[in-house]
Amino acid sequence: MALMRDRDGKRLHVKSRLMGESLVSESFLDSLEHVPQRRMFPDVNVIKIGGQSICDRGRRALPALMEEIVANKEQHRMLLMTGGGTRSRHIYSIGLELGMPTGIIAAFGTSVSKQNALLVATLLAPDGGIEIDQDAIVKLPNYFAQGCIPVTSGMPPYDFFAMPPANSRIPIHRTDVGTMLMADLIGARSCIFVKDERGLYTDDPKKDPDAEFIPEITVSELVERGLDDMIIERPCLEILSNSQVLDHVQIINGLEPGTLAGALAGEHVGTIIKRG
Ligand code: ADP
Ligand code: MG
Repeated sequence: MALMRDRDGKRLHVKSRLMGESLVSESFLDSLEHVPQRRMFPDVNVIKIGGQSICDRGRRALPALMEEIVANKEQHRMLLMTGGGTRSRHIYSIGLELGMPTGIIAAFGTSVSKQNALLVATLLAPDGGIEIDQDAIVKLPNYFAQGCIPVTSGMPPYDFFAMPPANSRIPIHRTDVGTMLMADLIGARSCIFVKDERGLYTDDPKKDPDAEFIPEITVSELVERGLDDMIIERPCLEILSNSQVLDHVQIINGLEPGTLAGALAGEHVGTIIKRG
């Protein structure tokens, strides 16, 4: 990075194409050359433990899944992220009927998803489970060196600054989005969503018995299909599409023993959504 002096010779500036630009111009941004994104933690698997789909099932889902996580701990580094689930929906609906803005609803979501992070970390405590703040992810190597399994909330920290959506006040960037953003940020080995269905179907299989399972699909094919409902939050597709480090995400059934182990081993279990 070259340095240059002001005309009066007193101040140093960095010579860069960004100087004097608004950074808004599309043609300017398109013309910029980027070095490839650095992968901070390419050996870490980012795994979302569903809120509604897994945590809310309590004893019927969590202990077996935790056991599988612990059994895989020596072989695979895992960062667990949690959803909010039914309790988020409860406070969302109260907030909505009382006229709360999107930013408050998002902050409600954060606090519930943190409860689930504490829940999961506590279950894993004898085996190294530790609840961490999201900004502690720069310390991930320290946690792994000590045999920890870090757990954090999946909610992205927009909170009061959550973007108001077009036709509702429910934030569109929730815990699936936070999980994907984290995986992209750290250049993760994988991004795995653990939920309560085999994967993505053509429609919600709980409501439509004729829904067909989709084992593999690209983002553009999925966008083209224009599904009314999906198993992951919609903005995840754009994040994957724009990612320079993730080329797919995987959605698996955490109620089926061995599925997470399979996904960690690189098997095609569940649905794989590919960038492209
Ligand atoms: P999480 O617990 O991770 O927050 P959600 O409950 O929000 O997960 O989303 C998962 C649920 O999405 C599934 O249990 C399923 O009933 C529903 N769903 C909606 N549309 C689809 C679809 N097209 N394919 C599969 N599942 C879907
Ligand atoms: Mg959800």
